[in-house]
Amino acid sequence: MINKLAIVGIGLIGGSLARALRRADAVDEIVGYGRSLSNMKLAVESGTIDRAEVSLANAVEGADLVVLATPVSAMQATFAELGPLITEDMVVTDVGSVKVPLIEAAYEAFGDLFGRYVPGHPIAGKEYSGVRHAEESLFDNHRVILCPEPDTDDDAVTLVREMWDVAGAEVVLMPAVKHDAILAASSHLPHVLAYNLVDNLVRRDEHKEIFKYSAGGFRDFTRIAGSDPEMWRDICLANRKAILECLQSYTRDLDVLMRAIEAGDGDTLLETFERARHAREIFIKPNDLDEDDDY
Ligand code: NAP
Repeated sequence: MINKLAIVGIGLIGGSLARALRRADAVDEIVGYGRSLSNMKLAVESGTIDRAEVSLANAVEGADLVVLATPVSAMQATFAELGPLITEDMVVTDVGSVKVPLIEAAYEAFGDLFGRYVPGHPIAGKEYSGVRHAEESLFDNHRVILCPEPDTDDDAVTLVREMWDVAGAEVVLMPAVKHDAILAASSHLPHVLAYNLVDNLVRRDEHKEIFKYSAGGFRDFTRIAGSDPEMWRDICLANRKAILECLQSYTRDLDVLMRAIEAGDGDTLLETFERARHAREIFIKPNDLDEDDDY
């Protein structure tokens, strides 16, 4: 299906995609380009990629498909570097967790060839980073959101859709603005809250006892605070408007709960908790998504 695939950033997501495509025997050659030589070495030695290149130009030369899988801030710089290298025969896609700023960066960098870029985001992952945690089955039965623009080429969308299909994922299409608003609520807000809760507790004098006596619920709620801070800093900055709207709405509701607790208003507490439990039963089915889903 793909003769030459170039992956920029061979970490958890880039490495898992490479392995999933190998499992499907869908690509002849996978070339990696990354930041550190030690990571590239690990990617080659583990058989995740065929070879590593130290120049972006060499990595993408003659590639049918280029996948950007670095943190979001590095992608914006990579688009600028890719601008003079992209050709009509090449398709570029990415796996970044925020879409609008990346589309803007691609628009500026690619000019007339903007149609060769297909914005993408796999709704799968985990709180561990790096190629050593890459898994060929990471995307199995998980959704991948593609956000083609009106001037994205149809054949480019078809190729990227096919790539994710053979990697085991289910592809859905969505406008980029909607993607960023929905993911701000479903993923970015929970990460901010998890980091905030752990940070708040660890700065208390009695934090050792708090963590010592924490149980499964605390572990579930804070698991995603184990995610890569650099990646989440980038996501918060790139999607700041949508995340701020979520945080404002959230803090307003938290304030209502605080006032209900202060006033001994059990009715408000019960109503809120019942509404939340009911919503969870309806919308979050046990087998809907894997426990490890982070995006
Ligand atoms: P990761 O495991 O940390 O991998 C990122 C890779 O990018 C690393 O190999 C890193 O190289 C490389 N890199 C960093 N800066 C670079 C640069 N300037 N040029 C070239 N390579 C660079 O991160 P990840 O979890 O795979 O995330 C990658 C992307 O996927 C992010 O944009 C994220 O938003 C998105 N995403 C993540 C998840 C998730 O759950 N983790 C889910 C969906 C989408 P070094 O190893 O040398 O530092």
